[in-house]
Amino acid sequence: MDSGACVGAGLCVLTAPEVFDQDPEDGIATAIDEDVPPELVPLAREARAVCPVEAIGLTDD
Ligand code: SF4
Repeated sequence: MDSGACVGAGLCVLTAPEVFDQDPEDGIATAIDEDVPPELVPLAREARAVCPVEAIGLTDD
């Protein structure tokens, strides 16, 4: 997760609320758990695809 690149668009949290959380103050998103459980990986991939600034990286891809 590149929080420095995140512009707080919130699409990742909308797409995968089980994987990402967003700071209510500045909107910056973080991964709830950097080790994404296997069953949530497809959702995490979707979130990566919708992020407008490519702030989301998955190490096993
Ligand atoms: S979709 Fe990207 S820019 Fe938007 S909150 Fe998530 S990580 Fe940040």
